[in-house]
Amino acid sequence: MLIIGPPGSGKGTQAERISERLSVAAISTGDIFRAHVKGGTPLGVEAGKYMDAGDFVPDSVTNEMVRSRLSQDDVDNGFLLDGYPRTVAQIDYLDGVLAARELTLDVVLQLTADDEELVERLLGRARETGRSDDNEAVIRHRLDLYHEQTEAVVATYARRTILTRVDGIGAIDEVTDRVMDAIGSPGTAALVRAP
Ligand code: AMP
Repeated sequence: MLIIGPPGSGKGTQAERISERLSVAAISTGDIFRAHVKGGTPLGVEAGKYMDAGDFVPDSVTNEMVRSRLSQDDVDNGFLLDGYPRTVAQIDYLDGVLAARELTLDVVLQLTADDEELVERLLGRARETGRSDDNEAVIRHRLDLYHEQTEAVVATYARRTILTRVDGIGAIDEVTDRVMDAIGSPGTAALVRAP
């Protein structure tokens, strides 16, 4: 399963909850990058420059990191990938990695939210956590990239008829309930169709 949403849509929070309920591994490219930045690894030093500016980390770094993570055994029981793919080129790469591992995607979940709501939320998060990519100019740049690049990813999965959209505005529990209703039981035919 994939979870896709604009910055501030709560996808990280929902991803953790969904992965717990479905007992599948949650894999967040943003979290992996932040762990590298914190640890001061060469990958973290490289990625951090892009993250602070709100830019995408280059595919040469990101793709290999995802391939390596998806080669671990825990994904055989299912996985929830959060934050990848963000570009159409990353879809192609992911298709190849999944095919090589004989894995298929059951569902792609998009969390939706209005831009101005997201800016407000992210500015609030910046005050609470001091995340270095949460200032207004960077936030707006990340939203622009989402519209310019990641909406094409969503459209691709809609064409593959594995997309479901859920309104990400509301209390965290409410959104989780909406998500669980929308995705049903993974592995069943009733799963998901693009709305
Ligand atoms: P996130 O926590 O998902 O918002 O990701 C934080 C930052 O990590 C993004 O703004 C990008 O700089 C970087 N990042 C995460 N996932 C990707 C990806 N799939 N491709 C490129 N950059 C990414």
